[in-house]
Amino acid sequence: MKKLINGLDEKKIEYRLNEPMKLYTTFKTGGPAELFIIPDGEEELKYVLSLCNKEAVKTFILGKGSNLLVSDAGIRDKAVIYIGEKFDYIKKIDECTFEAGAGSSVAAVCKYALSEALSGLEFAYGIPGSVGGAAFMNAGAYGGEVKDAIVLCNHIDSEGKKGKFEADALDFSYRHSVYSDGGYVITSVVFRLKKGEKSDVEAAMQDFISRRKDKQPLEYPSAGSVFKRPEGYYAGALIEQSGLKGKRIGGAMVSEKHAGFIINYDNATTEDVVNLIEHCRKTVKEKFSVDLETEIKFI
Ligand SMILES: Cc1cc2nc3c(=O)[nH]c(=O)nc-3n(C[C@H](O)[C@H](O)[C@H](O)COP(=O)(O)OP(=O)(O)OC[C@H]3O[C@@H](n4cnc5c(N)ncnc54)[C@H](O)[C@@H]3O)c2cc1C
Repeated sequence: MKKLINGLDEKKIEYRLNEPMKLYTTFKTGGPAELFIIPDGEEELKYVLSLCNKEAVKTFILGKGSNLLVSDAGIRDKAVIYIGEKFDYIKKIDECTFEAGAGSSVAAVCKYALSEALSGLEFAYGIPGSVGGAAFMNAGAYGGEVKDAIVLCNHIDSEGKKGKFEADALDFSYRHSVYSDGGYVITSVVFRLKKGEKSDVEAAMQDFISRRKDKQPLEYPSAGSVFKRPEGYYAGALIEQSGLKGKRIGGAMVSEKHAGFIINYDNATTEDVVNLIEHCRKTVKEKFSVDLETEIKFI
């Protein structure tokens, strides 16, 4: 770590020590990151990754922290690399194609699509992640998945080399992409949508966002659906039928509005959330013999 920090100082790359991760997660939990690096764009990112590789320091890539549970003890012996505002841009390529920096929000991309009367990402309006995070896990909702709108992803590998994967190499499946196995930082994503009617695109987005407001506990911190959809079931329905709506452990609670969500109801710790997740899994397994797999990433 020390050599890595010296290298960052040498190149004047912004970093922070012991940065509280609860500031960067939508769950609003998580202890400090020992080393939190904020590269100022692709060149600095390349340098940071090659330096981490040289000094054998593992990395964790942070987007908008909306699918994460960070340990209360924080992140030690790993450099957190933040892909945020410095990677936030949208660049038009042609009438239906545009490139978005990995740190752009999904919401900004949806708003761009609307402004250009492009159809194909309406379902994603309301997903609170970054473009990089959405491509990483093939984010989806209401029958749509980002994979159907992505033509390629640009990335930097763990040795600091630039590269890209076109659609057929992205290996997208349910909440998975080639990136899910690690080893790359997505720097930008090229989307191709279809020309539509602006009023139709807007109406669909409004419909999806009001469905979210009706069904999801958006007034509380959370990381969205805790569990992946088990084949043939809905995780939320299994949890509800197990009588767990409103179940609390510490400050964490199974949402009364949507049992698929665990919310930070009252100053929860990550430990509270993890214990509640385990309680839901155990109860559902006992009652329905179904194994719930988490969609949220633990670090
Ligand atoms: C209220 C709410 C509603 C939600 N609804 C949905 C929904 O409908 N559908 C859905 O799919 N998800 C949903 N989510 C979950 C979340 O928004 C998505 O999973 C989103 O894609 C995560 O993006 P992020 O930038 O927040 O990633 P983070 O949480 O920061 O990171 C998640 C993972 O992606 C990796 N990652 C992030 N950026 C990069 C990058 N640039 N390069 C490489 N790896 C990267 C991280 O290392 C980590 O492993 C919801 C979350 C909340 C809080």
